[in-house]
Amino acid sequence: LLQLAMPLNFLGFVYREIRQALIDMHTMFELLHKDLEIKDEPGAKDLTVSGAKIEFKDCQFGYDERRPILKGVSFTVPAGKKLAIVGASGAGKSTISRLLFRFYDLDAGEVLIDGQNIAKVKQGSLRQAIGIVPQDTVLFNDTILYNIAYGRPDATREEVEAAAKLAKIHDFVLSLPDGYDSVVGERGLKLSGGEKQRVAIARTVLKNPSIMLFDEATSALDSRTEQEIQASLNDVSKDRTTLVIAHRLSTVVDADEIIVLEQGRIEERGTHRELLEKEGHYAEMWRRQLEVAQKVAEVEKAAGQD
Ligand code: ATP
Repeated sequence: LLQLAMPLNFLGFVYREIRQALIDMHTMFELLHKDLEIKDEPGAKDLTVSGAKIEFKDCQFGYDERRPILKGVSFTVPAGKKLAIVGASGAGKSTISRLLFRFYDLDAGEVLIDGQNIAKVKQGSLRQAIGIVPQDTVLFNDTILYNIAYGRPDATREEVEAAAKLAKIHDFVLSLPDGYDSVVGERGLKLSGGEKQRVAIARTVLKNPSIMLFDEATSALDSRTEQEIQASLNDVSKDRTTLVIAHRLSTVVDADEIIVLEQGRIEERGTHRELLEKEGHYAEMWRRQLEVAQKVAEVEKAAGQD
């Protein structure tokens, strides 16, 4: 029986390895597909980052030329500052982040980082400079260690743990029976939305990028988790140029500048205080969100009393 069990065990191992390889390949092809759409210019140089100032200059873009999505968007994020983008669903917020990564080329205008047009530098060096915490983090069917170190496989165990501490997920990981060797993802441990985001934050910390891009989850996290994630992000984005696509106005209060996008145009801009004083679209959104937040707090309080 043992003689039979050994090969079966081995087959199981091979099956899992092949399956994982297929998942990795799928992800890779997705990334490659995006890369194929745009090419490095011949002789393109690496991006050299000093302070990581970002400039969007009169950017116009549509996924289809018949339907413009961004209709002349201009803004500057000075080195180390934080810009928040808010606006209705479909206004073009995520499109701005995709253009910063140069997943697509502009129809007109330019995007500059420290004065260099991102269309003229090597894409690899551009993406190296930007760390993203996406709305929905893809976890590989592998250990937490692998998932955090993904993108910088040469990182030491100490570096991974330090990043996890900053992202405030270290204690959670230690509470698992297999610690950093716990397998997560489809066939392993299922992480909650908040935990997944923390893994993404730890990944980003490990990458140590000059620019941070945070695409806030639209799905609701409970208000405590939300605040904790917010606090980790503030720690991590300190002194880095940061762009936040915000779905919750509580995230944007301390931003150096907020832009309100409306159908591909910047409708209002300013700090939180300036925009409230303006009594425009932003002030209206703020009032509506406050009402919702109050209701949620009441429900959470009532649930806590049960
Ligand atoms: P949300 O808050 O819902 O995430 P958003 O402001 O981030 O919205 P975008 O994702 O930038 O909106 O999308 C802007 C518009 O571009 C939408 O009308 C959307 O349908 C369209 N769009 C987005 N991605 C593509 C794509 N790959 N191909 C074609 N159209 C797209």
